[in-house]
Order: sequence, then structure tokens, then C-alpha cells
Amino acid sequence: MSWLIVTDLDGTLLDDDYLHTQAAQALDTIADTYPDARIALASSKTPAEMIELAGRCVSDPILIYENGSGMAWRECTLCRPGAERLDGFEIESFGRPYAEVLAELRMLRFQHDYQFRGFSDMAPDEIARETGLSLSGAEKARQRVGSEPILWLQDDAALERFQADLARKHLELVRGGRFHHVGSSLNKGRALARLWRLLRFQFGIHAVTLACGDAPNDLEMMERADHAIVFPTREGDYLELANPNAHRAPVAGPGAWLDAVTDLLDHHHEAA
Ligand SMILES: [Mg+2]
Repeated sequence: MSWLIVTDLDGTLLDDDYLHTQAAQALDTIADTYPDARIALASSKTPAEMIELAGRCVSDPILIYENGSGMAWRECTLCRPGAERLDGFEIESFGRPYAEVLAELRMLRFQHDYQFRGFSDMAPDEIARETGLSLSGAEKARQRVGSEPILWLQDDAALERFQADLARKHLELVRGGRFHHVGSSLNKGRALARLWRLLRFQFGIHAVTLACGDAPNDLEMMERADHAIVFPTREGDYLELANPNAHRAPVAGPGAWLDAVTDLLDHHHEAA
């Protein structure tokens, strides 16, 4: 049985300690134990941020970046002519380029006097202060490909008007804890479906899917997948899923992630 495992990072594979080395080891352990499994990381992070974690892995995870704005593959897996490249990865964008998203945002701000600050308005040290990232982390987070994180400075009613204006321009807004994300293709569930089809029709792999996540932006991905592992929020709550094959992990982090994924895969290998 071939598996496609798609996992969120923060609050799922990564806990607050940000133990990237352990996270990479957990990914490599799954790749070693189940050579038929393809692993994809799905995050709101940029390709530059995700490549840092992928670079610590011996296995080659596929990267679904910026909430499903696109995918990045190790170079010469897909070998698409003219594809954008970054640090040995080939980037495949699903939505409109970052410059276009920014142009639309500037136009809306100009026309309606909306009050927000985006990453493009901030220097790396301000991003570092607002997000808790290191300065080099903030620089990587600023290398956007298809979406802009914004700090909203008005009330909820204005945010709803803004969201409706974005929709008219075929842009989406995904609400986050502090930063909201704006882009034209922000859906990890759709990205999972695209990746599944690509494996099916380009590589002939008919994969059973497993999605791991913790937050509302992981919901559709976990409902579309054949199996899901739900990780608890900071408050200890779990998302409710419309997926009969949903399991719960006790805590987030590389150790709990590895245990939960191993349990599920072992169970199905024994059953097969
Ligand atoms: Mg998360």
C-alpha cells in the first residue's frame, strides 16, 4: 500500500520547542520504515523557511508552502521547463504571484483606506518582534511566493468588508491567530488533492492519504484525506472532523507525531 502523508508543521510535527532536528529525524524514520510512503509538509511558512527543515532530512519531503499557494519539489523530480527554482528546489505555484497580490492589496488600501500592515511593509526586525522569529527566520519568512501575512488594525466589521472586497478580486483571506494571510490559492485541502492527482497521473502511484494537523486551516485537508490524525490546540481542544477515520494524538511535537503516524501505518500494514 502506498501512502501519501501530508503534515502541518507548527502545533503538529513541531511543538513550541521548535526542535527541527528531531522533526527531521521523525520524518526520516517514517521514510526509512515505509519506503512506499511519500511525505509532504504543508504549512503557512514560505519555501525558504521550509527548505531549512527539509535540508535536515535525508528523505526528500515535498513542500506545500504558504497555506497551499504552491508546492516545492527537490530539483529534477518534476523537471518542468521554466519552473522557478530556489536552493535546489523546483517551485510550482498554484495561484497568482506575490507581486500581483501586493498590487491588489495596495489598490484596496488606497481606495478604501483600510488599515493593516503586511510583511512587505515591515523590515525584518519588525517581523521578528511581531512573530517571535529570529532575524534570519524573519528574513526567510519575508521571501514570499504567493501570499501576504497582514496584521489587521481595524475592527471586525471592517475586516469583513475587506474580505468581501478581496473575494471580488478572487483573493482569499485565511484568519490566523495574529496574522491573517491573503493570497489567491490558500487551501491545504486543495493542495493535497492536486498532489494526489499528480502522483496518480504522473507517477502512477495510487496513494492512500493521511493528513495531520491541528488548526482550522488544516480542516479541509484532514476531511479530504482517507485518514487523519488531529493534534490538540494549545488549550487542549481538538477540531471536530467529518472524517470517520480521524484519530487523536495526545500532544504535538516530533515524538508524539512519530508515535501516532507509526501506530496508524503499522495497523494498516498488519491489516493488509
Ligand atoms: Mg498548525
